[in-house]
Amino acid sequence: MVNVMNATKFLGGASVIQHLDLKISVLEIVGLAGASGSGKSTLLRCIQGLETLDEGSIDRPEHTGFMFQDFQLFPHMTVWENILYAPLHKRRTELKKEEYISNAHRLLYSLGILSQKDIYPHRLSGGQKQRAALARALIMNPKLLLCDEPTSGLDKSTTGSVAQIFKQVHEQGVTVLIASHDIDFLCDVCDRIIMMRQGKIVLDISPKEKGFYAESLYQFYKD
Ligand code: ATP
Ligand code: MG
Repeated sequence: MVNVMNATKFLGGASVIQHLDLKISVLEIVGLAGASGSGKSTLLRCIQGLETLDEGSIDRPEHTGFMFQDFQLFPHMTVWENILYAPLHKRRTELKKEEYISNAHRLLYSLGILSQKDIYPHRLSGGQKQRAALARALIMNPKLLLCDEPTSGLDKSTTGSVAQIFKQVHEQGVTVLIASHDIDFLCDVCDRIIMMRQGKIVLDISPKEKGFYAESLYQFYKD
C-alpha cells in the first residue's frame, strides 16, 4: 500500500527525514509517534506528495485522503462546500456528482455533524472542525487515509469518539496512517506503532497488550 524507500528530505538546510524506509500493508492501521520536530508531519506530507523528496522514492495508491495538522478547512466555504469542493471540481472522478452528494450526507450523518453542514468553519468547535476535515478527507473514497494530529485540542470524550470513527473507517477497508502525540489514542486505535526521532524510525511495534505498551512508549518518548 505504501512503500517508502530510502527517503531523505532537507528543510531549511537540515535533513528532516533521513534515509527512511517504511512499508505499510493493505488494511493496516498505523500510528506515527515521536517528539515535536521529529519529522512526522514532513513524512506524511512526503507520502501525500505535498513535498518532494531529495533522495529516495515513495510508492502509494493514487487515491489518498489527507487531514492536516490544523485541519485547513477553506474559511470562506461552509462545511458542505468544503467537503464537496474536490469531487465537484476535479476533472476526473470515480463517481457521479449525485453519488458524491449522497456520500457527503452519509459521512456528515455518521460523523454527527450533519446539522452543521451550512456553517462556516470559524463557527465550529475544535471537534466539529476535526470531523469536517475527516469527512473532506474521506469523500473521494480513498484507499489510504493520512491524518496529522487528528485529536489535538480535543477533550477526552471527543477523542474517544474520534477513535471510534477511525476504527470504523478502518473496518470499512481503508488503510490508515495517523501521526499523533497522543500515545493512548494511538494504542487504542492502531495495530502498529512507529516512533520517529530526528527523521528516523527508532521503534516499530505491534502492541498486543496495548495498555502495557502505552506505558513503555511514554517512557520511550521522554528519553
Ligand atoms: P510536531 O509534533 O510538532 O507536529 P513533527 O514531528 O510533525 O512535529 P515536522 O513538522 O515534520 O515535525 O518538522 C520536522 C523538522 O523540520 C522540524 O525541526 C522543523 O523545524 C523542520 N521544518 C518543518 N517545516 C519546515 C520548513 N518549511 N522549513 C524549514 N524547516 C522546517
Ligand atoms: Mg507535526
